[in-house]
Amino acid sequence: MRVNITMECTECHERTYLTSKNKRNNPDRLELKKFCPRDNKVTLHREVK
Ligand SMILES: [Zn+2]
Repeated sequence: MRVNITMECTECHERTYLTSKNKRNNPDRLELKKFCPRDNKVTLHREVK
């Protein structure tokens, strides 16, 4: 049930992180606070296809 996803920065739209999630536990779009090297700060990252 685990699928690979890409996390995109909501501020600069850089696709910084690759991760995986459990579709059963997280059926909705995942949002995580992560460090963005382009913004040089922690920003909200959202799952993209
Ligand atoms: Zn960014």
